[in-house]
Amino acid sequence: MSQVTEITIDQLYDFKTCPLRFKLKEIDKLPRIKSEEEVGLRGAILATLSYYYTNLHEGKLLTLEEMKEKFTSIFFEKNKIYNIQFDSKNSQRKKEIEAYGMLAAFHRQQKFNPDKTVAVNLDFRVKIDTDFYVTGRIPVIRETSRGHEIVTFKTSSQRPTEFHQKTDMTLTLMAIAFHSMFRQQANSIVLHHLRTGTPYFVDRKQKDYQRLYKSVKMMKESMDRGWYYPNEGYQCATCPAQNYCMEWR
Ligand code: SF4
Repeated sequence: MSQVTEITIDQLYDFKTCPLRFKLKEIDKLPRIKSEEEVGLRGAILATLSYYYTNLHEGKLLTLEEMKEKFTSIFFEKNKIYNIQFDSKNSQRKKEIEAYGMLAAFHRQQKFNPDKTVAVNLDFRVKIDTDFYVTGRIPVIRETSRGHEIVTFKTSSQRPTEFHQKTDMTLTLMAIAFHSMFRQQANSIVLHHLRTGTPYFVDRKQKDYQRLYKSVKMMKESMDRGWYYPNEGYQCATCPAQNYCMEWR
């Protein structure tokens, strides 16, 4: 099996959640495994916010209607890239309503006081080890009274726990990427919980970087050894690869 030399943050999360599912999706590339509803919703919302910020960076403040329209085009017909597996028509509608609520709350906060963007959709590639990189994207860096602030978004219904705020891999990777691109630590990092409109301020220091490097190197070591084992757990209930997984011996 060819060695993995570059991986996205989302693929890294997939690997952490279940190494076998990661292999079925990303290495064996079995007939396209659909995204779960929650993953699809998150992808469509983040793409909508990316569209909002791209416009804002160019001086155009989108209306809420324009944002909803964009979201709908991604979530339903026009854009199939998320290949979302809906449980039913009703649950599809429910997710749409949830998304509109999040977009409305976000737009209310931006309407009279839009962010002063410094950079939008900033792609990065962090070197973890010789010939191994993690790629990702910082959605927004904005100018605030706290200084340059990395902004990320969370769509899940649970609020981020203190543990999550302190250890989340995405936030640490973004902090490392910012540090390497701007030659200094970000002044502030905020995790914006879209369902409640609450900002959670977090920080990342050298010791957090060390934890990240150690953990990702261990995952890479597992990949190199071909340890793509099934990790049966709560995540199996909605796993779109169940049928393939059942055959694994
Ligand atoms: S059903 Fe569970 S164990 Fe099997 S691939 Fe999916 S997540 Fe992994």
